[in-house]
Amino acid sequence: MTDSFPALVIREGDEGPTSGVEQLTEADLPEGDVVVDVDYSSLNYKDGMALLGKGRIVRAYPMVPGIDLTGTVASSTSDRFAPGEAVILTGWGVGERYWGGYAARQSVRSEWLVGRPDGMSALTAMSIGTAGLTAMLCVQALEAGGVRPPDGPVLVTGAAGGVGSVAIALLAGRGFEVTAVTGRPEHHEYLRGLGATDFRDREEMSAQPKPLEQETWVGAVDTVGSTMLAKVLAQTRYGGTVAACGLAGGFDLPGTVMPFILRGVRLQGVDSVQAPVAAREAAWSALADELSAELLEGMTSVVSLSEVSERARQILAGQVRGRTVVEPRP
Ligand code: NDP
Repeated sequence: MTDSFPALVIREGDEGPTSGVEQLTEADLPEGDVVVDVDYSSLNYKDGMALLGKGRIVRAYPMVPGIDLTGTVASSTSDRFAPGEAVILTGWGVGERYWGGYAARQSVRSEWLVGRPDGMSALTAMSIGTAGLTAMLCVQALEAGGVRPPDGPVLVTGAAGGVGSVAIALLAGRGFEVTAVTGRPEHHEYLRGLGATDFRDREEMSAQPKPLEQETWVGAVDTVGSTMLAKVLAQTRYGGTVAACGLAGGFDLPGTVMPFILRGVRLQGVDSVQAPVAAREAAWSALADELSAELLEGMTSVVSLSEVSERARQILAGQVRGRTVVEPRP
């Protein structure tokens, strides 16, 4: 690699944060024990918030956003990773407190990294990215709650988004009957292709629920929060588990305790940012086994650094389908 390399940098201006593609050198990078040549990052909902200065995601300026990345170790003073190794980084505050993946080269801490599973390409790894890792952690949470395919249907909210898309593919692949909640009926065919067999309308599922509604789902992956999560809980069958990981519809939870105390429903929170390394490694290994490159290709688009801000606006407006991979080139 030449001395300078491109990066998207958010700087604090008088009228709020502004971002642009800049040429950096290794001397500009933060301290870390591993320098990674970045093949790809991705665009997650949180990256959209960071790029548009929403929700106080960015804790220090200037910031190179990008909450995940994959690439090859260029140099390392860590005994865990040697030059040439393929690695993945998600979470840990990268792209929020620490510089992230929207740069062709980045300096990071070895404890944030996991090895990329054998045979998984860089493009596949970031087609999965933080969203896919989170989806897998949600699916594992359902199974830890005792939810099994023969028991009945499971629900995925925010279905056409990144986490939702991967969750559907994983659940269908494990033999679950999957119902998808989407506000975009034009994506029903896409969601069917991932394995959804039934649909619920976003608006209907966003209505304030009664304390208990008809018992329908044995489990659910919720990426939306707010009244939709309350509705999902009110419709979960006796002993079912709901994995909650997102707030695309809001961070409140306007429901009652009735599903918990009368139906023994379990609400399992899922966090990928601070998830322990062992859990990440197990999840990445399962992702490598369960998702084909072809299926991921169908849910992924690739953008450059100069295209990512426009995509950020779209992801916050709920207009992006599936996953967006970011190539760290101008
Ligand atoms: P996306 O924007 O790709 O997907 C979110 C989806 O939610 C949209 O595609 C849309 O699906 C639906 N949606 C959007 N706005 C609303 C709304 N107002 N009401 C109801 N539904 C809505 O985001 P991601 O998949 O990347 O992330 C989803 C959520 O999960 C985010 O809140 C994100 O912050 C969170 N997350 C949490 C993680 C964790 O570690 N806990 C890690 C990764 C993500 P449709 O059009 O199909 O209705």
